[in-house]
Amino acid sequence: MTTSDRSGRSTATATGTERSLGARARPVRALHHDVSERPFIVIWEVTRACQLVCAHCRADAIRDRNPLELDTREGKLLLDDIASFGAPRPLVVLTGGDPFERPDLVDLVAHGSGQGLSMALAPSVTPRLTRPVLSELREAGAKAVSLSLDGASAATHDAFRGVGGVFDATVDAARTVRELGFRLQVNTTVTRGNVRELPRILATVLEFGVALWSVFFLVPTGRGSALEPLDAAEEEEVLHWLHDVSGLIAIKATEAPHYRRIAIQRAEAAVVDDAFPAGGLRTALQRETARLLSGHEPTRRSARPPIDVNAGRGFAFIDHMGTVYPSGFLPVAVGSVREQRFAQIYRDAPLMRALRTPTAFGGRCGRCEFAPVCGGSRSYAYAVTGDPLAEDPSCGYQPVRRG
Ligand code: SF4
Repeated sequence: MTTSDRSGRSTATATGTERSLGARARPVRALHHDVSERPFIVIWEVTRACQLVCAHCRADAIRDRNPLELDTREGKLLLDDIASFGAPRPLVVLTGGDPFERPDLVDLVAHGSGQGLSMALAPSVTPRLTRPVLSELREAGAKAVSLSLDGASAATHDAFRGVGGVFDATVDAARTVRELGFRLQVNTTVTRGNVRELPRILATVLEFGVALWSVFFLVPTGRGSALEPLDAAEEEEVLHWLHDVSGLIAIKATEAPHYRRIAIQRAEAAVVDDAFPAGGLRTALQRETARLLSGHEPTRRSARPPIDVNAGRGFAFIDHMGTVYPSGFLPVAVGSVREQRFAQIYRDAPLMRALRTPTAFGGRCGRCEFAPVCGGSRSYAYAVTGDPLAEDPSCGYQPVRRG
């Protein structure tokens, strides 16, 4: 039984498997503000320097800082500009490269926090990620830290990261981050190479006590073009499995907005397992999950619905030199904060505006009844077709609506 509409914004009553998994009243969480006016989250790549050489790096990170990076003064002006959107102010994530390569990081965090911004950090796990620096950042007001975990063991994770010892250091860092009172997010990039490790990564993430597990579906761009993404059918299976376990942990399916379509479809299904029978991959993931959690399964809770944001629609990315993009994985520049205010770029850049009209997208996405709440991965569409408004080939859904 459900009373939800295709936007997923009204109340749904789930049955069958959904109910047993602690399914949600609302399958998708809508923002309460107008995303054409202000973003929900802004990612600022404060530097591209990093000591790791990760196999999937979006940034093609480099060893040394670029002298043309936004400097401290420019960075503070940018944070002021972001704060000027007013309440509710966007969340700001300082990423890289490795943000800990910047000696002014504590100063930037303190400035942003002082402007009322909720500041988060996405460091690389290197010797720079120390307890004293994390303590300083916490005192400066940083609220959340995200760490990457792309394998369930040192062998697989360290191979992905390109440096030995990172897995063990990540386990230590996760503990420190939690002890210091940060919210901890874990990011996992899923590829053909590690997809069957997901249940073991889930078990590790549950041990960490994370607030959010962000599972990133590889976009073939940057160094990631050398890795193998899942095909659309495999991605569908993994998204269903993620929804299966979303009563255990808050899930974010990064670059897979059709997770929201799946959340709505499952909320509408009489019995999820009948409406969406598991294929071979999902069955294998379910069995391994049950085996790993048998006897010590954590308490299920009300799952947190996925939030309705997408590239340019509640989300924006600023690179180390101040160039603005709809997303970090969509390398089509829409302006520079060295020339224009960020707020103006976000609101008025033609591509940003176009990205807010999913029903005008190409192919299946434009015809899709779920487009207003999904819209597909614009980054994936661009990586494969060269057109950020094309249909998303990583989704296999055939729309019902004619157009
Ligand atoms: S066809 Fe496009 S809009 Fe529809 S669910 Fe798939 S990705 Fe989303």
